[in-house]
Amino acid sequence: MVLVSAQIKFCGVSDSLIDCAQALMRMSLIHNVAPYGGDELTSKFALSRRDKNIRPWPKNKCVVCAPNLSKKADDRERDTARGGGGGGGAKKKAAAPVGIGPPVNLNLDDDNDDSDKEEDDADKGGPLEDVPDCACTLMGPNSGHRIHTACLQKLQAADPNWECPRCEDLRRRAAIGADDGVTYCAAIRGGFKASTKIQAAVDACKAVVAKNEKIIVFSFFKAGLDCVEGALDEEGVECLRFDVCGNQPVCRVHPIILHEFISRRQRVKSP
Ligand SMILES: [Zn+2]
Ligand SMILES: [Zn+2]
Repeated sequence: MVLVSAQIKFCGVSDSLIDCAQALMRMSLIHNVAPYGGDELTSKFALSRRDKNIRPWPKNKCVVCAPNLSKKADDRERDTARGGGGGGGAKKKAAAPVGIGPPVNLNLDDDNDDSDKEEDDADKGGPLEDVPDCACTLMGPNSGHRIHTACLQKLQAADPNWECPRCEDLRRRAAIGADDGVTYCAAIRGGFKASTKIQAAVDACKAVVAKNEKIIVFSFFKAGLDCVEGALDEEGVECLRFDVCGNQPVCRVHPIILHEFISRRQRVKSP
């Protein structure tokens, strides 16, 4: 059995130990689909979160004007190929998915699940409307994706078969992984390609379970844990999930989850 756990804060441990543990968690199990609210998609992979409406698309944000990580990575690659440095008007804060293009300063604070920031694009581009269902090819009907009327008209004029940029971005980021990465959860919105770290975590869990033992996986990134949870489920490994929500100053694993983790007998789910 695996306890997949996000953002546990330790009690009764020295500050430096907490710092070390948190630093490790901040860097672990980030998948390319994780930054900028990728759990909108990855939560569908995780059995424990699949039915919840995780981080719905903000009503005041346009799928065209919001950061599109795949396109930014493409632009950066093009800039680098040209040998150009700055140019291109790329915003300073832009972060690319890990693994594409040259190394970038990925601002982890922006990717933290807790940083739910309201971005006020609404007034800048005029009124917003729902992206037509037929264009939301990944997240499907009622995705909640929103678009400026002006942006919608531009897309429709450019290509009658246009796809929702947010859906396209999520799909492309989910498909970036290790060269020989396995695609997990393929039946769920095309699934995701395992990155090296995600695959290593899955392999480590399987090895422990094979020895009839239990393991705890920590990460700051719920989206990364969604991927691990989805992959483990597919591999027939039983998991419990514990997420810390919000900014609780001190948090212990919920007693019921802890009791279940301790008392439940290790077993691999029957196929
Ligand atoms: Zn727009
Ligand atoms: Zn969409």
